[in-house]
Amino acid sequence: MPELPEVESLRRYLVREGMIGRTFEWVGIEDKPESANGTGTLAGARLVVDQSVKSIERRGKQLAVVLDEFVLGFHMGMTGQVHILDSDDTPARFIRAVFNLTDDFRIALVDPRRWAKIQHFESLEHAFSGLGPDALDPDFTSKQFATNLDGRTAQIKPLLLNQAIIAGVGNIYADEALHRVEISPARRVNTISKKNLGSLFDAIRISLEHSLDFILKHPDERGRPYIVDAYGDRMQLHRKPGSFCPRCEIPLVTLKFGGRTAYYCGNCQK
Ligand SMILES: [Zn+2]
Repeated sequence: MPELPEVESLRRYLVREGMIGRTFEWVGIEDKPESANGTGTLAGARLVVDQSVKSIERRGKQLAVVLDEFVLGFHMGMTGQVHILDSDDTPARFIRAVFNLTDDFRIALVDPRRWAKIQHFESLEHAFSGLGPDALDPDFTSKQFATNLDGRTAQIKPLLLNQAIIAGVGNIYADEALHRVEISPARRVNTISKKNLGSLFDAIRISLEHSLDFILKHPDERGRPYIVDAYGDRMQLHRKPGSFCPRCEIPLVTLKFGGRTAYYCGNCQK
């Protein structure tokens, strides 16, 4: 699932390839139910013709293309990717929307599972509403992270997934960061010392930055961010049944939080 590093690598790819400054000329959206997530999830895409791209921003997992008069939000859902198409590209499978911009610049939303959303927002503020500070925002400090958790008593794992507390941490990176600092996902946040919360904040950053760096260094043959399950190469913790704690070399255990499964070591994570 695209998380912060995947979405940031996509943002940089679109900027690097020259999307900023171009104008949308034509939009095509698949003539099918737009999403397993309900209808209208690509509706924002229909409005962009004659709008020029001012900038491409991101907070957490939300990508925001800032246009002359409004903002087009892209949320990648479970399997969404954006590809820049070459003029000789034949139609690929799972293309849900195609955008033609000036100078033959074309992009496509590719999304096998149809959970991605393209939405119209009045402003960047609206596009990012409900999101807390971005996990990699240099102005976001461990002190503010601790303040955002102050007074809470819930277990740490679901709090890390709360995008209003820290935007951009998903299931995979939450497990990775908790393993790095030897904190159990089930630990109540009010029992974690300020010092350890600081270490957890640092571990989140290290995990996200390491993964972003890996993605940037391993594009596909056309220079696109290659968003596949390469977690084994960029994670210390291998989140799958039967895998082992790299420190203790004993099997990881799992715990469900809502619908999400946490993988952790019952020995070293307290
Ligand atoms: Zn362990």
